[in-house]
Amino acid sequence: MASLTLKDVYKSFNQTDVITGIDLDIEHGEFVVFVGPSGCGKSTLLRMIAGLETITSGELWIGDELCNDVHPGDRGIAMVFQSYALYPHMSVYDNIGFNMKVTGVARDVRDAKIRNAARILQMEHLLERKPAQLSGGQRQRVAIGRAIVREPQVFLFDEPLSNLDAALRVDTRMELAKLHRDLGATMVYVTHDQVEAMTLADKIVVLNGGVVQQVGTPIELYQRPANRFVAGFIGSPK
Ligand code: ADP
Ligand code: MG
Repeated sequence: MASLTLKDVYKSFNQTDVITGIDLDIEHGEFVVFVGPSGCGKSTLLRMIAGLETITSGELWIGDELCNDVHPGDRGIAMVFQSYALYPHMSVYDNIGFNMKVTGVARDVRDAKIRNAARILQMEHLLERKPAQLSGGQRQRVAIGRAIVREPQVFLFDEPLSNLDAALRVDTRMELAKLHRDLGATMVYVTHDQVEAMTLADKIVVLNGGVVQQVGTPIELYQRPANRFVAGFIGSPK
């Protein structure tokens, strides 16, 4: 069984379908990117996987568990948002450790996990700072640190770089690729930026209007786009 499986998944808001009949297998350890224009349903799809949106019909499997009705906190998933949603009055250390503190994780266990996440993200020297004393890229890393300490099977990223300037986007993109190599976790990443998709993905899922247009490696999509939409979007010569 794949790490994540969607079977004929639909989502409608007020009787209007925004996701229509999506089938998808994501293997353990894969870096999968959902790409498509604004409004095509990327965030909705990710939010259904995270359990932040109900699934109108179809099945979501995580590992060998049918998860349609499983509480978001019990899915082994951590989501990193575009807006970092950090607590401004807390240090980096406390931001990364906040959820563990709330759920009663012992102080020494918490401390070890926070320091491990900081080491992975190379921000050990920033643990005492407040969010206002960090750059945009550093804030994004704190948000990722909060996901790392949860030790999820699957990381979900919703346009995590879109608030960063171009140079920082390139740097952070490389850090994310390294994070994927270091952790070996499954990552599902949403973006409207085809360059981001082409550079990060093992597998790209091209969406338009709530429908999967094509699934393939970056090379496959570039060399053999399934239709005009994919060709135009990826920038291949079809
Ligand atoms: P993307 O992330 O690709 O930009 P979204 O998943 O946010 O797209 O949105 C897909 C479609 O679903 C859009 O037409 C959007 O307006 C609609 N939509 C998203 N969330 C809601 C909601 N809570 N209520 C009604 N419509 C929604
Ligand atoms: Mg979105």
